[in-house]
Amino acid sequence: MTAWVTIDLDAIAHNVAELSRRAGDASVMAVVKGDAYGHGLVPSARAALRGGAGWLGVAQLSEALQLRAAGIDAPLLTWLHAPGVDFGPAIQQGIDIGVPAVWEIEQVAEAARAAGRTARVQLKADTGLARNGAYGKDWDLLRDAAARLQAEGAVEVVGIFTHFAYADAPEHPTVLQQQQLFAERVEDAERAGLRLQVRHMSNSAATLTTPSAAWDMVRPGLAVYGLSPVPQLGDPADFGLRPAMTVTARATVAKRVPAGQGVSYGHTYVTEHETTLVDVPMGYADGVPRHASNVGPVQVAGQRFTVAGRVCMDQFVVDVGDLPVEAGEPVVLLGPGDGGEPTAQDWADAAGTISYEIVTRMSTRLPRIYVGDSAGHEAGRPVG
Ligand SMILES: *Cc1c(COP(=O)(O)O)cnc(C)c1O
Repeated sequence: MTAWVTIDLDAIAHNVAELSRRAGDASVMAVVKGDAYGHGLVPSARAALRGGAGWLGVAQLSEALQLRAAGIDAPLLTWLHAPGVDFGPAIQQGIDIGVPAVWEIEQVAEAARAAGRTARVQLKADTGLARNGAYGKDWDLLRDAAARLQAEGAVEVVGIFTHFAYADAPEHPTVLQQQQLFAERVEDAERAGLRLQVRHMSNSAATLTTPSAAWDMVRPGLAVYGLSPVPQLGDPADFGLRPAMTVTARATVAKRVPAGQGVSYGHTYVTEHETTLVDVPMGYADGVPRHASNVGPVQVAGQRFTVAGRVCMDQFVVDVGDLPVEAGEPVVLLGPGDGGEPTAQDWADAAGTISYEIVTRMSTRLPRIYVGDSAGHEAGRPVG
């Protein structure tokens, strides 16, 4: 193989168990949107369920349907839809639909009538993120529509949820303000006769730093994959988490060049001495950020080096000095860090982004290799 992504499914199961322990009586909805943050939707979802997740959460309806098509019958919530989406299959397959607006709950109800079934919905309240969710007076309209459509039998309002703006800064005043407004929204919905089974607001950062916000369920994503949502407060290990992803490529060429040789497009790196350059067959088409040009870290034969020159579409170069390296040498871009290799956080710091983006952007053209005990559960199943 030229370049690949290894996923430790046991790490995912372990992380969910750890998050569940921290959440106390609250259940865990493992968020597996974005192809499970680049880790592979179905295998990651199965590992999360094995680790004790009671629910799965995705942004897009198509992701929810993929999980059902793979035979996963766990409770499932999808929360990001544009007008005109066909809600029929979701209703048929018992998928909870997160609704932030009257137009959406009306369309869900219409699809439910057509299907002759009751749709399961969860109301999404905007308590200060100002993104998806019913804001201000729109909340009142959504609550009234929900009560009316539930009385008619078109929908069953199963839950209510919201999302933090500043969960990664637990002392920020909005963290408390959003909890207070959420409590008001919950009370308001219950006063309108809605029997809420699940009330939830905590992403990974809130699950780890604001346990008082757990309500009935927490919704961690990043921490499921073993990464820290609050790198300024702690590494994964500080929170009992194990990073699940390792990214490796094999050198295609290793060559000696003299001092003064410019490297890669635009020659933004120039060799200082005679040295060995190694070509690594991964680039921005694979998800390696071009912003990591001249700063991205790698590990070759146990030693750390830095990307030399620009990251190209399919490859980049590393200057390994006098290290004896030949074509085929494994180059580790990122991993858990136990063996001295760089982490997703190191890449995020180098490229000026967050670890979420580093792992989620790893292209699906890189094969996913699943390891760990739960990999056995994947035998004979299409993965990735
Ligand atoms: C992505 C997302 C989550 C998970 O966020 P993390 O920071 O990865 O834990 C939870 N809830 C909603 C609504 C989301 O969009």
